[in-house]
Amino acid sequence: MAAQPLYLAWANPVRIHWGAGCFQSLAADAPVVVLADRAALRYENETLLLERLGHHCKAWSWFQGGLATLTLAQTLCDELWPVLRQYPDATVLAIGGGSTLDLAKVIRYRLDDTRSAAAAWRRNALPAGALRHPLWLVPTTAGTGSEVTRWATLWDTAVAQPAKLSWSPADGYAERALVDPELSFSCPLRQSRDCGLDSLAHALESLWNQHRSPVSEALALEAARLVIAMLPRLQAADGQRDVRTALARASLLAGMAMSHTQTALAHALSYELTLKEQIPHGEACAVWLPMVWELALGATPDCDAALARVFGVPASAGVQTLRGWLQALGIAPRDLRDTAAGRATLDQEMRSARGRNFIAS
Ligand SMILES: [Zn+2]
Repeated sequence: MAAQPLYLAWANPVRIHWGAGCFQSLAADAPVVVLADRAALRYENETLLLERLGHHCKAWSWFQGGLATLTLAQTLCDELWPVLRQYPDATVLAIGGGSTLDLAKVIRYRLDDTRSAAAAWRRNALPAGALRHPLWLVPTTAGTGSEVTRWATLWDTAVAQPAKLSWSPADGYAERALVDPELSFSCPLRQSRDCGLDSLAHALESLWNQHRSPVSEALALEAARLVIAMLPRLQAADGQRDVRTALARASLLAGMAMSHTQTALAHALSYELTLKEQIPHGEACAVWLPMVWELALGATPDCDAALARVFGVPASAGVQTLRGWLQALGIAPRDLRDTAAGRATLDQEMRSARGRNFIAS
């Protein structure tokens, strides 16, 4: 890394429980309000959890799929905030993919005036009097890494100019994350592929990032190599347990790296594809990765060295290797540099909040 002395401020307050079966140890001795993804929680797990929570379970809402929109956040708050108001010490427990976990990160800040919520979320500002409830996150996809970051993505779609919002209070981390790879075993193949691509995007975006450190680099490299080795094996009938456990591990490690660096240019470019073309988040990031990799080349010697370690080939040759790897998974990489309009979009996103994290912005 940099030759000058480096002050390495590394902290992530989330208490992580990791391992197959750890979800079955989840219990509560205080009130809990649950938000769960209907498609992600198997019936037997739902029944067992209800038994373990017993009378401490004060409310249960289902996330029925789709984007984490402002409208959906408002609906869920209308359901759950009255219960949270009744039990001020209640914990919010979320079980699901990135959208479910992100919605829970919003719901856990209970506002006095429900009608002011949308304005607060749009401004990314907590009004006075907001009450912060403890939050436990259980990811069922591998993954978004949302369980170990403090920010949530909300989509403002009920307006003339739909937009992606980031909700990121300074104390927005969860108290606990339970990462049980077994919960991801039933995730459909296509969704698992897209979530794995999201993990790879988080890892690579941490490497070509202005805020990278030796710790984030080590986590990101391990995560990237795991995804590259394991994602092509996702469709094979054998070894699924090992493959999916490795992808859950990669998701967690990439999430930890990203919790310090944030994401960068590929994510900045992805949001438009999700909003306008309804492309799932992981794929919408992945299509930009080869172009962004090429743009990162030569930015700093240490970034080039890290990128060379991803595939074990020189960083300049890695672009083509990554392109071929993505194409084999059915992804068609895109490039904005061929047209004047594309170059203008690239220039604009380089100057966006996420784009400015990019090492060559
Ligand atoms: Zn992402």
